[in-house]
Amino acid sequence: MTTIRTTCDACGDIELVPGDLWLELEADEVEGEYIFQCPYCDQTERKPASQRVVTILLASGVRYEVAPPVSQRSITAMPISEAEILSFAGKLENENWSEHLEAG
Ligand SMILES: [Zn+2]
Repeated sequence: MTTIRTTCDACGDIELVPGDLWLELEADEVEGEYIFQCPYCDQTERKPASQRVVTILLASGVRYEVAPPVSQRSITAMPISEAEILSFAGKLENENWSEHLEAG
């Protein structure tokens, strides 16, 4: 599985899998930010993502959201809920498990 190396302010260098993080892209921009919850200290981190980073993360299967224009942001910009993240992570786990079961 693809691992994504990044840095947690508290823990230093850490490794994530694509399901651990998501991208927030600006409308009509090629750059944005990525958000992840550190698996070691549970702190939510937000980091700037250059065009190169965005490209790499998208190619790795990281999900993304496009932020609405700034003028609408105060009304509509809601972070992804924890339930959505868990649902997404759960789907990944289920796929892995079914593979294991079939192999065994
Ligand atoms: Zn951490």
